[in-house]
Amino acid sequence: MALNEFSVIDEFFKLDAAYGHPPVIGIGDDCAVLDVPADRQLAVSTDTLVEGVHFLQDSDPELLGHKVLAVNLSDLAAMGASPTWVSLAVTLPRVDRAWLAAFTKGFFSLASRYSLQLIGGDTTRGPLSVTVNIMGLLPKNQRLTRSGAREGDDIYVSGSFGNAGLGLIKAKLPEADISDIDVAAYLRPEPCVELGEALLSVATSCIDISDGLSADLNHILLASDVGARVDHSAVPLTQSVSDHVQQVGDIFWPYSTGDDYQLCFTVPSGIDLSVIEKKTSAKITKIGVIEKGCELRVVQDNGERHVLNKGYEHFS
Ligand code: ADP
Ligand code: MG
Repeated sequence: MALNEFSVIDEFFKLDAAYGHPPVIGIGDDCAVLDVPADRQLAVSTDTLVEGVHFLQDSDPELLGHKVLAVNLSDLAAMGASPTWVSLAVTLPRVDRAWLAAFTKGFFSLASRYSLQLIGGDTTRGPLSVTVNIMGLLPKNQRLTRSGAREGDDIYVSGSFGNAGLGLIKAKLPEADISDIDVAAYLRPEPCVELGEALLSVATSCIDISDGLSADLNHILLASDVGARVDHSAVPLTQSVSDHVQQVGDIFWPYSTGDDYQLCFTVPSGIDLSVIEKKTSAKITKIGVIEKGCELRVVQDNGERHVLNKGYEHFS
């Protein structure tokens, strides 16, 4: 975006906030330069949101600014990393000052919550899409991964499931309202950053739920070379999702809807998580145990068993 590119960067993206870990060199040069403390390691992740694919046409820009950062923070949370730096590539069909002001409001208000510094990015013209590259710090040689689950571990999840999937349906309705918990779960997800940090020294594996509980728990099972038994009645659902499940007549619906950005993690059997739950004010629920094998087996109260080994894939 030759015309206006630099004024847009200066006006909307170049903040003087210097909190957290200020970069050695931030926005304005060809690269940012960062100092990683000697006792830390860097966790890095990127996620893109494309209009019409990951968010609805004409989405509220403030909510979009929040969400694109939230989904990236969720990846750091899944590794137990503390958010530190972020870069932001935006592709815009046109320079729309009101849109940019709202977008950066959503983005920076979430960033400031974690003292997250915007250290660079790219601004180009084209179909609307936003890419965030996020960086967090971990204590040296300590991290949560997908590969550490062991037979006998307890399986936990945060929050509840299916809300964002239901929110997507509701968000398309003319009367959609952000004060509805499902609409909010879809349009303004809250990443479990504090929970991820607190689990760093406790959990044996962890993943954030972006593609659905069944797909993402299967990632842990595959990476850890184990199976799982999930007690269906233990999977936390809000009344709204339970009602929707009744309506569609598919009890596995909340296992396959994405965008919930909760954490699913394993801990050695019997570990008490009430202190972490209190400290992080996260709602966490034990839903099952890690077993031998490679399957995700869901058991209903009546003893019926189902194997869930499928999830949502972009190119399938
Ligand atoms: P170059 O042409 O060398 O890639 P740019 O003109 O793209 O440089 O960017 C100039 C400076 O502004 C760089 O430091 C870049 O990181 C920063 N920048 C560009 N767009 C953004 C953005 N959307 N958010 C934050 N920083 C940005
Ligand atoms: Mg550039």
